[in-house]
Amino acid sequence: MNLVLLGPPGSGKGTQGERLAAHSGVPKYATGDILRDAVRRGTQLGDDAKRYMDAGELVPDEVVLGLVREALSTPDAAEGFILDGFPRTVAQAEGLQRLLEERGIGLDAVVYFDVPDEELIRRLAGRRSCPNCGAVFNIHSDPPSVTGTCDNCESELVTREDDREETVKNRLRVYKEHTEPLLRWYGESSVLREVEAVGSLEEVYGKLLGVVGDS
Ligand code: AMP
Repeated sequence: MNLVLLGPPGSGKGTQGERLAAHSGVPKYATGDILRDAVRRGTQLGDDAKRYMDAGELVPDEVVLGLVREALSTPDAAEGFILDGFPRTVAQAEGLQRLLEERGIGLDAVVYFDVPDEELIRRLAGRRSCPNCGAVFNIHSDPPSVTGTCDNCESELVTREDDREETVKNRLRVYKEHTEPLLRWYGESSVLREVEAVGSLEEVYGKLLGVVGDS
């Protein structure tokens, strides 16, 4: 199963992809998570990426393409992969296609998570993240057991810098300008599937399984 999860920030592709990865045993690679980890560790990559991320802008294509090339070269990815938050531009999609062609493989499905803008803004404003282990909760739909505390490592949860209102608006603008054109790009092949990603986590997961079931 070689999958791409496509959708605006807050569409739930990360959460649903996590679940699919756990159930199927196929590794998930989220470029946002890889970049945030680099920022936490204070690496050169993290230092370079941070200013783009804090502003809700995209990190340069060559940088993320390098990360994905590295991720797909690991033995874990040999049997399949789930890409979350990548590609985000047509140049990245072209780069991914070249990477896959070099390996003689293709994508089985590109799943588009469709969510109305007002719902995205509500979800992102309710999102709380763990600065220590990276776990993500939502005060509306997926609250931690103890308010403000991470279920996994008991650290105090925070609102991610880029989940603040002004930055959220910019991320949605960037999504519409750079990432939405991918729907047409992938729409020209037969791999694009759409999930109406509203409803409970269970409902959306059921819809996701429905569209990737035959991949
Ligand atoms: P995410 O967690 O996927 O919302 O990503 C958080 C931030 O990381 C984004 O707002 C971008 O600054 C950066 N980022 C993640 N994935 C990509 C990508 N494929 N291309 C460019 N920037 C990315």
